Amino acid sequence: MQREKIAVRTIDRIAEGLIDVSKRLHAHPELGGEEHYAVTAVSAYLDEQGFTVREDLSENGRYPILKTALRADKGGTEQGQYDSNDISSQGRLLNNAYKMAFLGEYDALPGLGHGCGHNLIAMMSIGAAVGFSEAMPEVVTTFFGCPAEETVGGKVFMSEAGLFKPYDAALIIHPGGCNELGGTSLATHPLEVRFTGRSAHVASLVDRGINALDAAVVFYRKVMDIKNEFGSAAVIGAIFTEAGQAPNVIPDKATVRLTVRSHTVDHLEEVVLPRIRNAAAEAAAEIGAAVETEYYEPLFKEMKEDLTLRSIVGDTMKEFGFEPRLLPEDEADGSTDVGNVSHDIPTVQPTLNIGDGLEIHTPAFAAAAGSDEGYRRAVIGAKIMAVAAIRYYYEK
Ligand SMILES: [Zn+2]
Ligand SMILES: [Zn+2]
Repeated sequence: MQREKIAVRTIDRIAEGLIDVSKRLHAHPELGGEEHYAVTAVSAYLDEQGFTVREDLSENGRYPILKTALRADKGGTEQGQYDSNDISSQGRLLNNAYKMAFLGEYDALPGLGHGCGHNLIAMMSIGAAVGFSEAMPEVVTTFFGCPAEETVGGKVFMSEAGLFKPYDAALIIHPGGCNELGGTSLATHPLEVRFTGRSAHVASLVDRGINALDAAVVFYRKVMDIKNEFGSAAVIGAIFTEAGQAPNVIPDKATVRLTVRSHTVDHLEEVVLPRIRNAAAEAAAEIGAAVETEYYEPLFKEMKEDLTLRSIVGDTMKEFGFEPRLLPEDEADGSTDVGNVSHDIPTVQPTLNIGDGLEIHTPAFAAAAGSDEGYRRAVIGAKIMAVAAIRYYYEK
């Protein structure tokens, strides 16, 4: 209890500074991969709070999108040594200390600024990290600045780089229009299918060419059949991104982009995607075209929340006046890169109400994410995370 009080008091003490950082992010919205202002502001603040900050986790270009990722570590000194100079992904944490991760985001949306409220996500996780580390100095506390959540998903690459694996748990809160906990997110792996044929004049009597667009159309029909067959077990969307240049020329190239989603990564990779790739091969064969497929964005895994962590967070939210509705286990609307973290370590991502009925990705939400009420609730969100993390530590 004493430790929880220390965390809460610490967050109260720094609330003004937290709000200031968040306000500055809100006033300087940056798209995924371009979060340079955010990285500078967040780093400076955490450095002031005694964290060891490292900007740029791209590992010399191996993960280009992580140029605007950062990590800030503190604590863990009683049970071992944290080697802050070691940047290899395997050897970053060279001790047996308990390790707690708070995940921050800071990217914005084109034309909407902070319409997803990531300035509040950053603020809540920074506040939680500072409050938690003050109360739990023997635990390694890390704030991860995770870039490009709205686009390629920075956490996908941070997970691939092994950054989360050493940790005992990860917490993140997303602001929203209600208090929610549980549910899942869809696994998704965006696919591009490119058909190649042979151009010819459309009126030529000697050369009929090979119509790549015909192959794409045949493919599209097959995809719609697959979509009907799977029903609610998969989400499939497809558009033509290349379909010829002029109507009097047989198109030699046609490209279809698909988003393909399912409730689990296994079902997606082993059942749904092979059917789609087969359909592409069949369509190409029917027309005599060639085909190649490529995943143009990385695999987002489905969210697999830790049940202990979830129930602790739920109780803590309730205590702080944010009683969450528990979503059914299979309820999923979007996809998030937090899903990939949840396959590495126990993870939780509740939704915290910053304004009844607000929808994310709207101008109204961007306004709420920069409002006094939004900041007031985000301070409480930081406390919820810090206290829940302390309770999880003692539960384990
Ligand atoms: Zn969003
Ligand atoms: Zn978001």
